[in-house]
Amino acid sequence: MPPIYILGAGPAGLAAAYMLTQQGQTVVVVERDSKVGGLAKSIEYQGFILDLGPHRFYTKIFPVIKLWNEVLGSDRVTVSRLTRIYYSGKYFSYPLKALEVLFALGIVENTRIFFAYLVAKLLPNRHPKNFSEWVTAKFGKRLFEIFFEAYTEKLWGMPCTEISAEWADQRIKGLSLLKAIRTAFLGDNGKVKSLIGQFQFPRLGSGQLYDKISDYLLCHNQEILLNTEVVRVHSDNSRVTQLTLRNRQTGVESTVCCSAVISSVPLNTLVEQIITPPHVSKSYHWRDRSNFATQFSFI
Ligand SMILES: Cc1cc2nc3c(=O)[nH]c(=O)nc-3n(C[C@H](O)[C@H](O)[C@H](O)COP(=O)(O)OP(=O)(O)OC[C@H]3O[C@@H](n4cnc5c(N)ncnc54)[C@H](O)[C@@H]3O)c2cc1C
Repeated sequence: MPPIYILGAGPAGLAAAYMLTQQGQTVVVVERDSKVGGLAKSIEYQGFILDLGPHRFYTKIFPVIKLWNEVLGSDRVTVSRLTRIYYSGKYFSYPLKALEVLFALGIVENTRIFFAYLVAKLLPNRHPKNFSEWVTAKFGKRLFEIFFEAYTEKLWGMPCTEISAEWADQRIKGLSLLKAIRTAFLGDNGKVKSLIGQFQFPRLGSGQLYDKISDYLLCHNQEILLNTEVVRVHSDNSRVTQLTLRNRQTGVESTVCCSAVISSVPLNTLVEQIITPPHVSKSYHWRDRSNFATQFSFI
C-alpha cells in the first residue's frame, strides 16, 4: 500500500500524523516551510526562542489533553499570565483596563472612538456584507481600526473585507461595547474562560510540542518532507490517487502515489491552486471564502 500523505506540518497535520503512527499506518508529511509547527511554530533568533504569537494551551477535550501530556511529558510548565497589547508605542493590559485605555489613548482618540460609535448607532448598517462592516456596525469605525483590523488580518491571513459577516457573528456573538466596558470596570466573575490566570506551556516555546511530534515521527521511521509543497492533487472520480510535489530549494517536481490524503493546507490554496477535478466547484464568491469549509467535502 502506498503511504497516507498529510499535507502541512502545522498542529492539525502533525496531530493526524501522530495518531496514524500510533495506529501503525505509514504516513508522509509534506511541509512547504523549512520547519514544522505552522502558525504555532517557534523560531530561533539571536540565541532566543520566539513564538509567532502567544499560544496558550487550553482545552477540555480529553484526547487533546492526552496527546499534549504524552508528547510533552516533563517539558510542560505552568506559567502565570501576563498579556499586553503593544499599540501606538504603549503597552495595554489585556484584558483591557478601562481607565488605563482612557488615559493612554488620550482625549482626542477617545473622542474619535465615541463619535465613530455614535455614527454607527445613528446610521446603522443592518446588512453588513463582511467582517469589516460587521465590526464597524457594532463598535464604530475607530475601534475596528484600533483593536480588530490588524489583529484579525494577522491571525487569519486575509483582509477583513474578505471574511464573511456570518463568521464575525459567530466569533464575536454576545460581545457589545457596553458589556466590554462593564467587564473592564467590574470584572467578569471568571466567566471568560480564556482569561485564566495560569496556563500550561511547553518549556521551550509553543513550537516545542511540534518539534517533539516531529522527533516521534522520525523515530518511528515516518517521513517528513520539509521545503516541499504540494502543487497538484490527482484523482480518479472518487478518490485521490497521486500528488505532485515540488522541492522549493531545487524546483524539482515529482509525482507520488498515495493511498489517502489528509489536507491541512488553507482551503483556498487547496481549491484555487492544487485541486482541479471537474466535480469541485470553483464558482463560490470571494466574500464566502471563510464559509467555504462547510461546503467543501472533497478529500
Ligand atoms: C498570533 C497568533 C496567536 C494564536 N494564538 C493561539 C492560542 O493562544 N491558542 C490556540 O489554540 N491557537 C492560537 N492561534 C491559532 C493557531 O496557530 C492555529 O489555529 C493553528 O496553527 C492551526 O493549525 P493548522 O495545522 O490547521 O494550520 P497551520 O498552522 O496554518 O499549518 C498549515 C501548514 O501547512 C503548510 N502549507 C501550506 N500550504 C502548503 C502546501 N501547498 N504544501 C505543503 N504545505 C503547505 C504551512 O506552511 C503550514 O505549516 C494563534 C495564531 C496566531 C497567528
